[in-house]
Amino acid sequence: MLGVPRGGTGRQILLVFSIMLAAAWGQMNFTGDQVLRVLAKDEEQLSLLRDLEGLKPQKVDFWRGPARPSLPVDMRIPFSELNDIKAYLESHGLAYSVMIKDIQVLLNEEREAMARSRRLERSTSSFSYSSYHTLEEIYSWIDNFVAENSNIVSKIHIGNSFENRSILVLKFSTGGSRRPAIWIDTGIHSREWITHATGIWTAKKIVIEFGKNGLLTNILKAMDIFIELVTNPDGFAFTHSMNRLWRKNKSSRPGIFCIGVDLNRNWKSGFGGNGSNSNPCSETYHGPSPQSEPEVAAIVNFITKHGNFKVLISIHSYSQMLMYPYGHSMESVSNEKELHSLAQDAVKALYQVHGIQYIFGSISATLYVASGITVDWAYDNGIKYAFSFELRDTGRYGFLLPATQIVPTAQETWMAILTIMKHALHHPY
Ligand SMILES: [Zn+2]
Repeated sequence: MLGVPRGGTGRQILLVFSIMLAAAWGQMNFTGDQVLRVLAKDEEQLSLLRDLEGLKPQKVDFWRGPARPSLPVDMRIPFSELNDIKAYLESHGLAYSVMIKDIQVLLNEEREAMARSRRLERSTSSFSYSSYHTLEEIYSWIDNFVAENSNIVSKIHIGNSFENRSILVLKFSTGGSRRPAIWIDTGIHSREWITHATGIWTAKKIVIEFGKNGLLTNILKAMDIFIELVTNPDGFAFTHSMNRLWRKNKSSRPGIFCIGVDLNRNWKSGFGGNGSNSNPCSETYHGPSPQSEPEVAAIVNFITKHGNFKVLISIHSYSQMLMYPYGHSMESVSNEKELHSLAQDAVKALYQVHGIQYIFGSISATLYVASGITVDWAYDNGIKYAFSFELRDTGRYGFLLPATQIVPTAQETWMAILTIMKHALHHPY
């Protein structure tokens, strides 16, 4: 160390320290990153888009992946890659438009809205159902909610996440044991914030409507409802602390550089098949084996041990779709007609609330082939009413849906959920 002036060392230490501090506390910045929408004309153009994941590893983040020519492809491109990617699109004759011009602008607005709402919540000691919340805020809301509605709601700890966070489920029940049950999960993909917020609103709605809404009251006299609000707690905490656009969980394994498994590719049904990825760096990495992830295993164990689930609804965003199995193949399920007409009714009920249109059908026919997903597992394990939602919007904001849309989204989704629950009540099996 001889010859290095003391002051210089001090400055260097200070510099290193402040870089470490920025890494520890700073959130990832998305200034200048854009979301591009590509309308592929045919299968050939779609495969040119699929090639991008390999050509630009970890640079192209598909928000709506290449599915079929009738559906747009949305992808987030870092500022540093924009020229390259736009040149690639142009050279292959792929028409694109800019859906989001600067992601960081939307992130700043979102953060400011949360801060404003937090100040208001503190000054009025109330919880705002029209704001986004952190994991800590949601878990403390759960405790208050259960305490205030203990006649009908309880909290069940079904396991711990990879980083050892509690995995919690709300149980709505009027008594009995092992009644026919309805499962709803939100937030298995952590960046889909509208889903957690919709789940919270829905939980509150159930306690408000119980005893007032005849249909819901009848449902709760015969069935129990379970809601898992934060299905991917580690990923969700990370969307707040570091990377708002994180999708997977946070598991890591020795010798593997990339972090996280796509929890909606980690289920046993069709595990490792088409529409999932064996590369740990992929956003759709299926993990080393079925149910390798504690977040998935916790649900599998809970639902299997319970043994009397009749409905499973897994909520995602975005795209405005209501879908049923299968995802892993084009094969039709045995009650396809019933699921199709039920989805149609649910989508109609949803539309009547705010005029928002959803498309519906089987996952593989509506969206794309996806293997190892929740609803396929549910169906293959005897839950014949298995549905997956993709909530608002269709891409204007994508995963960064403004909080002003939380309540309308939840209101319309509720009518669709109620339609499915009503059908299950009237068609016991
Ligand atoms: Zn999702």
